[in-house]
Order: sequence, then C-alpha cells, then structure tokens
Amino acid sequence: MEDVSDMQIFGPRELVRDIHDQDLCVACGACVELCPYFKAHRGKIAMLFPCDLSPGRCHAFCPKAEVDLDGLALHFWKKQYEGDSLGHYLKIVTARSGRKAQGAGFQAGGTVSSIISFSLKEGLIDAAVLTDRDGFIPVPRVVTHPDEVASCASSKYTATPTLSAFHRAVRNGYSRIGVVGTPCQTIALAQMRMNPLQREDFSDPIALTVGLFCTWALDTRTFIEFLSQRLEPDAVRKMDIPPPPAEKMVLQTEEENIEVPLSRIRPLVPKGCLLCPDMTAEWADISVGVLENDPERNTVLIRTERGMELVERAVKKRFLEIGPMPEENREHLAVAASNKRRRGLRKALEEGLLNTEGDARACLRLNAETLKKILV
Ligand SMILES: Cc1cc2nc3c(=O)[nH]c(=O)nc-3n(C[C@H](O)[C@H](O)[C@H](O)COP(=O)(O)OP(=O)(O)OC[C@H]3O[C@@H](n4cnc5c(N)ncnc54)[C@H](O)[C@@H]3O)c2cc1C
Repeated sequence: MEDVSDMQIFGPRELVRDIHDQDLCVACGACVELCPYFKAHRGKIAMLFPCDLSPGRCHAFCPKAEVDLDGLALHFWKKQYEGDSLGHYLKIVTARSGRKAQGAGFQAGGTVSSIISFSLKEGLIDAAVLTDRDGFIPVPRVVTHPDEVASCASSKYTATPTLSAFHRAVRNGYSRIGVVGTPCQTIALAQMRMNPLQREDFSDPIALTVGLFCTWALDTRTFIEFLSQRLEPDAVRKMDIPPPPAEKMVLQTEEENIEVPLSRIRPLVPKGCLLCPDMTAEWADISVGVLENDPERNTVLIRTERGMELVERAVKKRFLEIGPMPEENREHLAVAASNKRRRGLRKALEEGLLNTEGDARACLRLNAETLKKILV
C-alpha cells in the first residue's frame, strides 16, 4: 500500500489551476493565512499574488487536491481504507450538554459547545478554533476562554474558511488546539497532522478535532443573494435543516420562521461539496450530528482513544450527558452516510477526478477493491 510520502503534492499554481479555477474549492480555509498570498473574503478564497513555491502546504492540506484515503487510513487507523458507512469508530452514543455546561442557542443538544468549553476549562486544549458570525457572514474565530464558546454555537450552513483561524492560532503559539469543523475541514486537518512535507521541526499542534456531520454547505455569496430577495440576511438568528422527510431549511428571525424548500437552495451547493465522500467527519476524534426525532440531543461517534477519554471525563464532571444510540437511528444514519459516499465518489468518477493516471490530477484516490464495494 502507498506510504504517506507517496502523496502527490504540488504548489499554489496547481492549487489555483486544478481546484480554484475548476470551481472545486469549498472555502474551508486550509490554504488561507499560511502565507500572505491566499485570502478569504465573504466566503470566497483567492490568491492575490503569484507564487512559484512547490511543493506547498496550501496544496498538501487542500481537501480537494490529491486526497489519498488509503494514506490517511494507514496513518491514523493502521489499515487500508475500507469505506465503512460511518468510518472507523469505537462507540456511538446520543448526547446533550450536561448541568455544568453553560450557554444557550445551541444547534441541537449543545454537545459540541459543551465538549469544547469543558476541554478549555480542564486545560486539555489551550485554544479552540470555532465559527462565529458577523451579521450573516460566518467568521472563523480563536477562543481561549470557556465563556466565549457559547457565542459561536449554532450551525452556519454556508462554506466557511474556519481553518484560516487554525493557522492563526498556530502562528500565535498555541500548541494544544481544539478545532470544530465540517468533514472537508477534518480531512484537511488530518492531512496537516501527517506532516506531508516531512518538516523536521514539525510537532502536531492539534489536541482535539470535533467533526460535524455534513451533507453539504451552501456557497456564502450566492446564498446571501438568494436570501436578499426575501429578507434581510443579517436578521437571521438561526438556521436549521430538520431531518428527512422535512426537505426544508428553516430560517429564524426575531419576528418569524421562514421556510425554504431544499430544492430551491440545492443549486447553491458548491461543486466541490458534490464530490465529498464523507458525511460523518470520519477523520475527527469525535463526530457530532443531530439525532433523528429528538432535536434536543445529538448523535456522537467517538473515534479515537483521546476522544473516548475526553467524553468519559466530561460525563463524570457533568458537562455532558450520554445515552444509548437506538439501533434504528444508527441504521438510518449509516444509510444516509453511505448514500453520500456513493454519490460523491460517482460524481468524482464522472468528472474524471478519481484515481486518475499519468499527469491528470485527482481529487481523491483510494484502493480499487474498496471503490468497487462502495459503488455497487
Ligand atoms: C454546513 C453544515 C452542515 C450540516 N449538515 C448536517 C447533516 O447533514 N446532518 C447532521 O446530522 N448534522 C449536520 N450538521 C451538524 C449539526 O447542524 C450540528 O452542528 C451538530 O449536530 C452539533 O450540534 P450542537 O448542538 O452540539 O452544536 P453547537 O453546540 O451549537 O455548536 C456548533 C458548532 O459548530 C461550529 N460551526 C457552525 N457552523 C460551522 C461551519 N459552517 N463550519 C465549521 N464549523 C461550524 C461552531 O463553531 C460551533 O462550535 C451540519 C452542520 C453544518 C455547519
């Protein structure tokens, strides 16, 4: 099987040509704030000045450029990528914030905010990278105090350059960072943790990754344009996409709840999202989503030993309450996650961006046996 050092890494020119210019960028922020050249503005990422560096971290970290799923699986799970619907995990539970956790305005059970505030309070992390809002625009943020966590609660269903704040946190000297991100962002973080450029001075600054389940995120700019025809986007206090069969997004303002059919906004999903094979953030320590039929609780996949230890401590200290995951819910989640994986890989294959040969660039690479199993 391929070793990590066989990953194909190019530079910023290739990143712009193969990803940005092909509309494959999902604005995760992995290439922003590493250097003075890549900048994010209102949900779009652009290179301001030419740069000839090769190989570059911007390309190595990008979750759409030459992602080697077998290399990741070998590095983190010590095995070939097997494409299981929910990814590798140790335990699946339901959860919600416990009595000791503070805050309100959570998206669902507040599990994510509670895990992060607990980790800061206990000194398990020295900074957290979260996603706040300025009006309707999502804003990456570095927080260092548990009391700041709740202000970033709730889901912004738009593509967000959250990882730019991660690079800022590293630059500012934080060395035990907790990051909350969508699946594409957790892929980028996993690639960073592999030290793809084999830097001798590398030490892994990531102490915790909390992944969010995600089917897609909308393009920020076009979604704002879409909403502006109906309401003042800055008036939106909360967004929610209730589980199927609702097929709608609900936007809450002070005065009313506005419902938008998903069929109207799906065309605003960036092309890069459509190639994504991961719904449950499989490269995170802990992955969190909503729980079908219970808007006050979350589904939680605990994937690593450090994730397990953290959840057990948070439960003991009453920051988190957990319960058993009903088998029926687990089955529904597994179906939704395998559907997304199959759709994403089919789309990548159709676009000629999967397991390419010769000089052609791929978005994704994985072993033929697993690919065949998923596509059946
Ligand atoms: C774009 C998107 C799509 C999603 N799709 C699904 C789905 O299909 N199925 C499902 O079960 N769950 C989905 N979720 C996750 C779900 O909405 C909740 O985030 C999750 O259940 C955690 O709930 P909570 O109450 O613990 O979160 P909270 O305690 O409210 O914390 C939410 C956290 O999410 C972070 N965040 C918010 N928006 C973003 C963003 N755009 N990018 C990165 N981080 C962000 C914030 O920093 C905050 O820490 C999605 C979330 C997002 C952001």
